[in-house]
Amino acid sequence: MTLRLTNTAKTYPDGTKALMPTDLTVETGEVVSLLGPSGCGKTTLLRIIAGLETPDTGGEIWFDDDNVTAQPVERRNVGMVFQSYALFPNMSVGANVGYGLKMQKLSKPEIDARVTQVLEMCQLEKFSHRSISALSGGQRQRVALARAIAPRPRLLLLDEPLSALDAALRETLRDELAILLRKFQITAIFVTHDQDEAMAIADRVAVMAEGRVVQSGTPEELYRNPTSAFVAGFVGNAMQLHGTHDGMLLKLSGGVLPLGRDGTGQDIFVRAEDVLIDSSGPLKGQVETVTFLGTHYRVGIGGLMPEILISIFPGQSAPRIGETVQVSIKPESLMLLPQTGRGK
Ligand code: ATP
Repeated sequence: MTLRLTNTAKTYPDGTKALMPTDLTVETGEVVSLLGPSGCGKTTLLRIIAGLETPDTGGEIWFDDDNVTAQPVERRNVGMVFQSYALFPNMSVGANVGYGLKMQKLSKPEIDARVTQVLEMCQLEKFSHRSISALSGGQRQRVALARAIAPRPRLLLLDEPLSALDAALRETLRDELAILLRKFQITAIFVTHDQDEAMAIADRVAVMAEGRVVQSGTPEELYRNPTSAFVAGFVGNAMQLHGTHDGMLLKLSGGVLPLGRDGTGQDIFVRAEDVLIDSSGPLKGQVETVTFLGTHYRVGIGGLMPEILISIFPGQSAPRIGETVQVSIKPESLMLLPQTGRGK
């Protein structure tokens, strides 16, 4: 199913403009993540799609050729998975997963067959008869997903479904979820404020700020070609180089950096991995912090940049705190972005 939103906005009764007029399309089978800081309108947008909130006049929500704007939540056939699993604690796993099918009035053999299939796909078959209260958090979250998927919804909406879990489990389930969503070929929207989660799960990420989608693209596109300082900082934590502009040059406290093009009126950003320790580099600074990261060191250089990432090769030693190092940055790895801050 293709989801299409046109001119969809939301003003709450107290006057809060939670969502500015937004156009968004999610293609059949596509997994789109809404990524943004707390309060930017992600949940509001998701609730409008589900039918739990009404958009301001003029906004339209289409499921394929079906205008569902005025349809109530129960008629939209949307699956939902939230941070709180909202499972029925006294029912077995199988009964939870079959609940929506019972509501759809499927026959008992049909329900049994579908429940078995979904439990198998979610690797839950051995828990079918177990009660929800006897499951771990990660298992409960998988049951919540299985329950949402079983009725074959037209669209699956997931609102921070992993945020109640501990970090290690979150990472495992994140990858499982990415695989499962593809296996079921479900059109899905995944809300998160965690960029790693968004990048791992989604085909396309829509970055939101202050009630707007500020940029949408594949994780690679957002990482390599952010169109605003906000997206550069939010996706992949690009660092801003603060200096004085002089046409093709940026004057920093540690030296003069060639930009390769005119940087007047632009903010200059660079990713940690594009900063190189290089004895012929034009910038100079003193090492202030060194953190061992297994495959890399993270090095902070006083007055120049809070972190650069250095790969560790056999026999190579990391810079020492207090040491003065020279740094180079290839002009083509610099991102020159409009100085408007959050951008549009
Ligand atoms: P979080 O990541 O913290 O859940 P979010 O991006 O999902 O945030 P929303 O919950 O959509 O953000 O909220 C967007 C804005 O709308 C916020 O400023 C919030 O305070 C406001 N808001 C949400 N619900 C209501 C409401 N019922 N009445 C008034 N304002 C609301």
